[in-house]
Amino acid sequence: MTLTTRFAPSPTGLLHLGHAFSALLAFQLAQKQGGRFLLRIEDVDTTRSKPHWEQQIYDDLTWLGLSWETPVMRQSDRTAAYDAAIQSLAERGLVYPCSCSRADIKSALSAPQEGDVHHGPDGVIYPGTCRGRRLQEAQHTDALRLNMEEAIKHLPTSLRFREHGENPAQHDIECAALPADVGDIVLRRRISGEIAYHLAVVVDDAAQKVTYVTRGSDLFDATKIHVTLATLLGLPIPHYHHHRLVRDENGKRLAKRDDARSLKSLREQGNLPQDIFDMLKI
Ligand code: GLU
Repeated sequence: MTLTTRFAPSPTGLLHLGHAFSALLAFQLAQKQGGRFLLRIEDVDTTRSKPHWEQQIYDDLTWLGLSWETPVMRQSDRTAAYDAAIQSLAERGLVYPCSCSRADIKSALSAPQEGDVHHGPDGVIYPGTCRGRRLQEAQHTDALRLNMEEAIKHLPTSLRFREHGENPAQHDIECAALPADVGDIVLRRRISGEIAYHLAVVVDDAAQKVTYVTRGSDLFDATKIHVTLATLLGLPIPHYHHHRLVRDENGKRLAKRDDARSLKSLREQGNLPQDIFDMLKI
């Protein structure tokens, strides 16, 4: 099978050295294996995503010597595919509307009967306040959540994915533990609005026939969610390669607001692509 991998940045700021590492790793891997390298613009966050950041992504990656297939997939064009995925989960009774704000969740979790607060890949595990609500009673401003207790009835005992990063392994996910370890994740932030990253990424990787997901190890825990959603949606499970994160001299992960390490600034300071490769030891 042809290896197909991708780089999936969000156009919400300047790309930095960490993004360059991720993109180059995926690109070189595809080249080495005679595979395909795709680019996907993850512009689901409609407030923070901006066309000029998207253009900057193309400019930076071209400068680095990368090329990709066109047309580029943009998540803002994919509403119909996300709607269909939610519909398929909803038809099985796995989706419910949720009106809880962060403050509601915090106060529900601080109730004496709740015991210890558990954290999952998305932060605190949702206490399930709205779980009994039906989709028919959804309000305009509600989010949509996956009912994980119900979802596991549609899953096998365990799920498996293959990791090829610095610690190659076969990982098993025990489905019975998903309600406690992952909980009722958000699928859509607003009934008719913004889709959640987890659902979008799973639907799009499958649509683009991605066989090998290359991305930072900060997303390792989210993979459990993605494998679960892909299985529920009857989609293939890709292989995963979670790579090391590029850090600054204090060991801190680079962030988009860290303009000094952006590719744009490094280029304006006179660096050449080879200097970037040297910095990244790639
Ligand atoms: N869009 C995500 C980001 O910029 C990456 C998604 C992924 O690789 O799965 O962090």
